[in-house]
Amino acid sequence: MKRTVQKKSWAEPYKMKMVELLNVTSRQQRARAIKDAGYNTFLLRSEDVYIDLLTDSGTNAMSDRQWSAFMVGDEAYAGSASFYRMEAAIQKHYGYKYVIPTHQGRGAENILSKVMIKPGDVIPGNMYFTTTRLHQELAGGKFHDIIIDEAHDPGSEHPFKGNVDLNKLAAIVKKVGAKKIPYVSIATNVNMAGGQPISMKNLKELRAFTKRHGIKIIHDMTRVAENAYFIQQREKGYEKKKIRDIVREICDNTDGATMSAKKDALVNIGGFMATNDWNVYEEARNLVVVYEGLHTYGGLAGRDMEAIAVGIGESLNDEHQHARVGQVEYLGHRMESFGVPIVRPIGGHGIFVDAKAFLPHLTQDQFPAQTLAAEIFVDSGVRTMERGIVSAGRKPDGTNYYPKLELVRFTLPRRVYTQAHMDVVAESAGSVFERRKKIKGMKMVYEPKYLRFFQARFEMIK
Ligand SMILES: *Cc1c(COP(=O)(O)O)cnc(C)c1O
Repeated sequence: MKRTVQKKSWAEPYKMKMVELLNVTSRQQRARAIKDAGYNTFLLRSEDVYIDLLTDSGTNAMSDRQWSAFMVGDEAYAGSASFYRMEAAIQKHYGYKYVIPTHQGRGAENILSKVMIKPGDVIPGNMYFTTTRLHQELAGGKFHDIIIDEAHDPGSEHPFKGNVDLNKLAAIVKKVGAKKIPYVSIATNVNMAGGQPISMKNLKELRAFTKRHGIKIIHDMTRVAENAYFIQQREKGYEKKKIRDIVREICDNTDGATMSAKKDALVNIGGFMATNDWNVYEEARNLVVVYEGLHTYGGLAGRDMEAIAVGIGESLNDEHQHARVGQVEYLGHRMESFGVPIVRPIGGHGIFVDAKAFLPHLTQDQFPAQTLAAEIFVDSGVRTMERGIVSAGRKPDGTNYYPKLELVRFTLPRRVYTQAHMDVVAESAGSVFERRKKIKGMKMVYEPKYLRFFQARFEMIK
């Protein structure tokens, strides 16, 4: 008999030992909650949220092994054994020589930017990230986007939308000179492009180009393991390689890194900066004491560093990443079955809904993505976030950035929600899509100076 069952499940390589109870709310309660929050999902109270897809940052479920590691955390102020275990894990798996712990990713970005950027410098990168670019600008630098054009097109099926356009980089080098470029800022699995990977081939070409010009590469490695998974799935020659080996190969093609361990590394808080350059390390070790804490804890408890050391190892497991990205893909396919326009190909850490295509009757100044995030919350208690004009903020000269991408991000915490939760989310997006023509936009009524998306307030247009 011919077999018809195809086994392609992405089922999780873990089971549950403890559950966290959730509040189920009424539509009326949710409508009040989002109004009180100024229609900004960041200002909601989490107890009013049913399924929280605001971010994959610090929202991961730790494993039994990580919780056990918590118990052996060494809380010494200086020379904590937990720091040395974290440092050893970073050196072993990522290959960087010198490690500075920080409380989270932006702490590392602050220190690295202060050490490496001089006023007037230019930092090319494969799409901006909010905190990364802000720290570059606060240090006196100017960010330049050198990602391929396809990354700005939500419909493009390019398998490596995180790639750098070397012609764009060459043009900047020609214009300002290599001396004004302290480094190229390369994110793996580019967050703002929808969790899209850079290929090993492109990274190696970039490496060769920067070497010729004496320019360094700094790696935003927040989602390096997810990027490695896509290389394994999509890039010729890597089908049989292990994720851990691909991760190492990526890191080996860069000179230093900043990391938010709250993502890939499966913890709730933490980060670090790493470098292969002694001079950068020495300067960073001076600054970490000013901004974070001693260079053997950097704002972290010993137990946090223990959990990071274990989490890094778990993040490099092939089955873990298969289940992780498999769940994201499941959600994406369910949404597509309802006609919801999403960024293609489906990325690594969430589904990015194209708010411009969802609400084509709104102008970008009416905040389509912000509006859609509020509508989804009222519909089902699912919390998402805006990644569009509000997140992009203002240029140093005070005018608004108008990003091409106007997205609502449905970000999946790692190892937290079930397949049935994904059904609830997709059905909610689908039902809001059915009544999209009735949705009006919003106006901003309060705007903070920095990273405005976190605290801005809005009102519905009547
Ligand atoms: C989250 C994130 C950061 C900042 O890290 P925090 O831990 O939130 O401070 C930097 N880069 C990328 C790509 C991120 O996703």
